[in-house]
Amino acid sequence: YCAATRTFHSLREPVPLPPPDLPLSFPAFAFSFLPSPLPSHAALIDSATGEAVSFPALLAQVRALATALRSHLRVSRGDVAFVLAPPSLHTPVLYFALMAVGAVVSPANPALTTGELAHLAALSKPSVAFAVSSTASKLPPGLTTVVLLDSPGFLSFLQGPGDASVMDAAVIRQSDPAVVLYSSGTTGLAKAVVLTHRNIMSSRVMAASAPAVPEVLLLTVPVFHVYGFVFCLRPVMAANTLVLHTPTRFDARAVLEAVGRFRVTRLALAPPALLAIARTAEGEDSVTASTATLQAVLCGGASLSPELLRRFSQKFPQVCVTQGYGLTETTAGFCRNIGVEESRRVGSVGRLSWGTEAKIIDPETGAALPPGVPGELLVRGPFVMKGYLGDKESTSKVLDSEGWLRTGDVCMIGKDGFVSVVDRMKEIIKYKGYQVAPAELEDLLQTHPGIDEAGVVGYPDDQVGELPVAFVVGCSGSSLHEAQIKDFVAKQVVHYKRIHRVFVVDSIPKNASGKILRKDLAKL
Ligand code: AMP
Repeated sequence: YCAATRTFHSLREPVPLPPPDLPLSFPAFAFSFLPSPLPSHAALIDSATGEAVSFPALLAQVRALATALRSHLRVSRGDVAFVLAPPSLHTPVLYFALMAVGAVVSPANPALTTGELAHLAALSKPSVAFAVSSTASKLPPGLTTVVLLDSPGFLSFLQGPGDASVMDAAVIRQSDPAVVLYSSGTTGLAKAVVLTHRNIMSSRVMAASAPAVPEVLLLTVPVFHVYGFVFCLRPVMAANTLVLHTPTRFDARAVLEAVGRFRVTRLALAPPALLAIARTAEGEDSVTASTATLQAVLCGGASLSPELLRRFSQKFPQVCVTQGYGLTETTAGFCRNIGVEESRRVGSVGRLSWGTEAKIIDPETGAALPPGVPGELLVRGPFVMKGYLGDKESTSKVLDSEGWLRTGDVCMIGKDGFVSVVDRMKEIIKYKGYQVAPAELEDLLQTHPGIDEAGVVGYPDDQVGELPVAFVVGCSGSSLHEAQIKDFVAKQVVHYKRIHRVFVVDSIPKNASGKILRKDLAKL
């Protein structure tokens, strides 16, 4: 902590990144870490089928697909590629290949409704889309090129002749957009977060130092969320094995079986998955022996309660559970605890990763605060997004000209550098780690013929984090029924955005400029 500037600096080991002006794509950077000859263990494994892809096959597939993208599909630098597909062995290959030719990968949740997806596509304006047969009908209209990942055509692209120089053919700057993900940020509706090649490169800072033996990492978080996106690519860069959890819904029993079957050493998940795994394991005595290879769990995306941690650790005493903390806007985590010693700091999300600067400010006055005092966390570092696509106004509200990003979270940084997330100032509700934007549900509720005004907040819940709850004011003469309003919303949104309770009130608390006072609403 520097008292003169009131800034916290990371004390982690430096993680070398290339000079920022050197033209380099993320895939070229990532593959440069692979040893020669290539590792003999699997690069990717499908948890359900056991099918594996070796490192030589992975590289060959990425080259072949990148070549096909360029020559057959005419995908070029700057084109946005919408991806609407469940996780599979094709996912990392597609992400790498698209970025290798300078295209911008934009994955979305296949469970979203067509209306929700159309809104996202209107933000990112994709020119090409990748889907599977079961998701293609949900793609927004107007896309000139659609490729099905489960079609013979796609498989022939993967097996086609790869041009060895395809990775060097496009001059890609590290500051070029590599990914567009969706987040509602601190307020309002979903926005398109632009992350650059350098942003993704810098996600290496979250990795602990290289393990002596290759890790086997099982990824259970969605591959369209920043956490899953980054973890889909990072194990390859570290020559580790990535096991993709491919059932369409999270399945704790399948996770435990996969840990035993593939000798998984590390799990990446969000708190609700940790709870589901603990619950499933509690009923089974043999689970400790069958999961003996598991050494570590990285838990992030939402806050982890000490009770849940205790519950999990009782069943899995050998497993070190570390927390990570970050945002879509920070290319996932910039903060985590590393190793057994730090993981004992229950309630802390760890220390700042290399290259991170942080400030804690008084949200009212903007004054920077000293260690041990809670306030809004601001961060700066190579992982901070380029901005929201086509939305300078929203960008300037969270990102200043010196590169400081407002997280919208109330945090505290102790003298020893451990960060804790104390509260959330921003509007978003986190349901099982998924973002729910109150403004989106309020807009939707207001389209109901009987509703005049609506306000939505999160209600704390042990199982899922927070439940979306609505307060509504009826139009004069209308009679509102909770079940009917819940149904009205449920028909138009993905499952995690459903409203769980509706309260009819006389008025929605607002400030003088008409902004909903959510804290007051939450108190109700
Ligand atoms: P997202 O952009 O969906 O990753 O959401 C980012 C937000 O999730 C953060 O601003 C926090 O409010 C919350 N979050 C992420 N990780 C954690 C964590 N480990 N503890 C508490 N909150 C978290």
